Amino acid sequence: MAGNTTPVSDENQPPKADGSIAFDNSYARELVGFYVVQAPAVAPTPSLLQFNVTLAAELGLDPTVADQAAAVFSGASLPTGATPIAQVYAGHQFGGFSPQLGDGRALLLGEVIDRAGMRRDIALKGSGWTPFSRGGDGKAAIGPVLREYLIGEAMFALGIPTSRALAAVATGETVYREVPLPGAVLTRVAASHIRVGTFQFFAARGEWDKVQKLADYAIARHYPEVAAAQNPYLALFDAVCRAQTRLIAQWMGVGFIHGVMNTDNMTVSGETIDYGPCAFMEAYAPGTVFSSIDQTGRYAYANQPQILGWNLARLAETLLPLMDTDEGRAVAVATARLQGIAGLYRAEWTDVMRAKLGLNGIDAGDAALAEDLLAAMVGQNADWTLTFRRLSTAVDGDASLLAPLFDDPAMLMAWLPQWRARLATDAAARMNRVNPAIIPRNHLVEEALAAATGGDMAPFRALLATISDPFGDVAGREAYALPAPSGFGPYKTYCGT
Ligand code: AMP
Ligand code: MG
Repeated sequence: MAGNTTPVSDENQPPKADGSIAFDNSYARELVGFYVVQAPAVAPTPSLLQFNVTLAAELGLDPTVADQAAAVFSGASLPTGATPIAQVYAGHQFGGFSPQLGDGRALLLGEVIDRAGMRRDIALKGSGWTPFSRGGDGKAAIGPVLREYLIGEAMFALGIPTSRALAAVATGETVYREVPLPGAVLTRVAASHIRVGTFQFFAARGEWDKVQKLADYAIARHYPEVAAAQNPYLALFDAVCRAQTRLIAQWMGVGFIHGVMNTDNMTVSGETIDYGPCAFMEAYAPGTVFSSIDQTGRYAYANQPQILGWNLARLAETLLPLMDTDEGRAVAVATARLQGIAGLYRAEWTDVMRAKLGLNGIDAGDAALAEDLLAAMVGQNADWTLTFRRLSTAVDGDASLLAPLFDDPAMLMAWLPQWRARLATDAAARMNRVNPAIIPRNHLVEEALAAATGGDMAPFRALLATISDPFGDVAGREAYALPAPSGFGPYKTYCGT
C-alpha cells in the first residue's frame, strides 16, 4: 500500500463480474461462533422471475446487477465480497422450545449500507442444504417464494416495517412437497436477521458471554442510542418492546395475520419477517386463522397482541443476567416491564385506530369508540379493509356505500353519530392515506401464485403493481379491491417450506 499512492480513478477499474455489490459483512466478521459458512446450492438453469429495481437502487446496487440477477440471486454465481453464512438460532415453535433451528434453507450473503446509510442484510432463501436443514432439503418452491415477495411488498407499501424481496429466481429444479413443484430462490433484504430465537439459542446453552456479544451487536446496529443508557441491556429490551409493539399494532390495523409468530420469526429490529402462511383477514372475525398447521388458533388475528407479550417474555429471559447481576432484581425489573406491555400495546393500537377513524386530537374515549365499531362489525361479514376505506365516505352522514358491507348495519348506524362528533378537519382525506383500498386479496394471491407455478407471471406482476399502490384511487382496478367471491374458501394457507 505505502509504495502505491497514485490514486486510481474508477474508470480504470475493470468492471466486476457481479455488478459490484459493496458488501460489508459485520455479522460474519464480528460474530464468529454465531453461524456456519455454507455455500449455496448451484441452481441448474436459473431464470429471473422478478427483480425489484427500486429496492436495488435504494440499496445502492450497481444497475448492471440486474443483468446477472438470475445467476447472482439464485446462488449459481457468488458475488464478490459475499460471505455466505447460515445463522444459528433457537425458538419456541407453537409454544414448545426447539434448542436449535437455524437457517435451514437460507443464507446470508452479506450486508450493504444503503443510500440512507442503513445497514441491510441481503440473504437467499431456498438456496439449499445447510447444517441446520435437519430433515429438509433447504429448497423452496415458486409459490411460497412469490407469496413472500408479494406480501412483503404489500406491507412495505402499507408503511409497515418489513423485510423486502430483491429478487425471485426460478432454479430450473423440481422440489418435492406433496407434489413436484418448480423450485425458486428468494433474495430477501432485512434490517437484520437477528431474532428473539438468536438470543434464545445462546441463553439456553448458558453462553452468557455470547448473549452479551449479540446484545452489544444488536444495540450498535439497531438501537445505538441505548448504548449510553445507565442500563443498556434493559434499554435494549425496552427498545425492542416498543418496536415490536408498534409493529403488531400496525398489523392489527390492516388485518394482517402472520400465522407463525414463533420466537424465531420475531426480529429484534422490529421488522416483519418470515412470511409463511400469512394472509390478510377479509370479514372481521377476531378468531380468524388461515394457517393449516395452527390447529388451536394460537396465532389467530386477535391473539397476536398476547403472543407479542409472550414472545417478549422469552426475550426478557435471555437478557436477565445482563439486566442485573442480582437475579432477584433482574426478575423484578423484567416482570415490571412485561406487565407494562399490554398498556404499551393498547396505546399503540389506539394510535393506529385514531388515525384509521380520522379522529381529532386525543380523547380518553378513543379506544372505546374504536372497540364499539369492532363490536358493530363482528358477525356482520363486514370486510375489514372495505369498512375502514368506506368510512371516509360517511364523514358527512351518507352511509349508502358503507352500510351495505354489513349484514345488519343497525349497530353501525347507531355508532356513526358518536364517531362524527370526534372527526378531525379533513378527516376523509386523512383516512384515505392510512386505510388502504387495496390489499393482497387471498383469492387473487392464490390465482397469481398458481399461474406463476404454471409459468405465467402476468397475474403476479399485475397484482404486485396494484398492491404497491394501496392508498390510491380504485378506479380502473375495482376487481382488486373486492373480497373473495363467496365460493372461495374457507381459506387455508400452508407453510412456505
Ligand atoms: P419457518 O417455518 O420458516 O420459520 O422455519 C422454521 C425452521 O425450519 C427454520 O429453521 C427453517 O430454516 C427450517 N426449514 C423450513 N423449511 C425448510 C426446508 N425446506 N429445508 C430445510 N429447513 C427448512
Ligand atoms: Mg422462520
